[in-house]
Amino acid sequence: MIDSSRPANPIAARARARMIEHLRKLGIRDETVLDAMNRIPRHAFVEEALASRAYEDTALPLGFQQTISQPFVVARMLELLAAGGRALGKTLEVGTGCGYQAAVLSCLSSDVYTMERIAKLLDRARSNLRPLRLPNVRLKHGDGNLGLPEVAPFDTIILAAAASKVPEALLKQLARGGRMVMPLGTSSQVILMIEHGATGGFKETRLDAVRFVPLLAGTE
Ligand code: SAH
Repeated sequence: MIDSSRPANPIAARARARMIEHLRKLGIRDETVLDAMNRIPRHAFVEEALASRAYEDTALPLGFQQTISQPFVVARMLELLAAGGRALGKTLEVGTGCGYQAAVLSCLSSDVYTMERIAKLLDRARSNLRPLRLPNVRLKHGDGNLGLPEVAPFDTIILAAAASKVPEALLKQLARGGRMVMPLGTSSQVILMIEHGATGGFKETRLDAVRFVPLLAGTE
């Protein structure tokens, strides 16, 4: 799916392979997630001045007071969504940012819908994603608290910004048997995993401590 007409960048490929080894050492085991992260050029999603740091395991600034998430946290959340080798199916991502995680998701999900509340950031994500020619990623400008009722239900939902409570609309848009992962909390946050039972009911599990930018309301 990645456009092979772009010149390969061996330095970036080596740095990326080291990042994958680091993720393995930290306990990421899901080969489909590791393979997806090995395919997506993270350096193409950050500003040129930061490109040399793109494969460090750290969050990096994106402008607009937002950050591209730390690779370990991206891997951990995607591994939770894919737990047990489940296909991700139709995915909603809230918080497109620079588009990096959406690109990784495109390797794992049949369809990716990604929402961003800041129009200028969505434009940047669109131009970052264009050269990769990922046919299954759709970008939407809007408030992710509301989800995309016209496209729901989603098999998987992932939030890249922290909320103090689970957005009600998103729970309604999670298919039966589906899974959602999100950072929950304000000053102290954890990853929350929500499983929608096959016959109804929601099971919540609180996992690792994390630090994300806040989920805000409205658009700009
Ligand atoms: N997944 C991104 C990380 C983005 S950081 C990446 O790979 O780069 C979180 C993003 O969530 C920010 O861009 C922020 O503007 C966005 N965001 C915050 N609240 C939102 C909301 N209610 N709806 C949609 N996007 C939101």
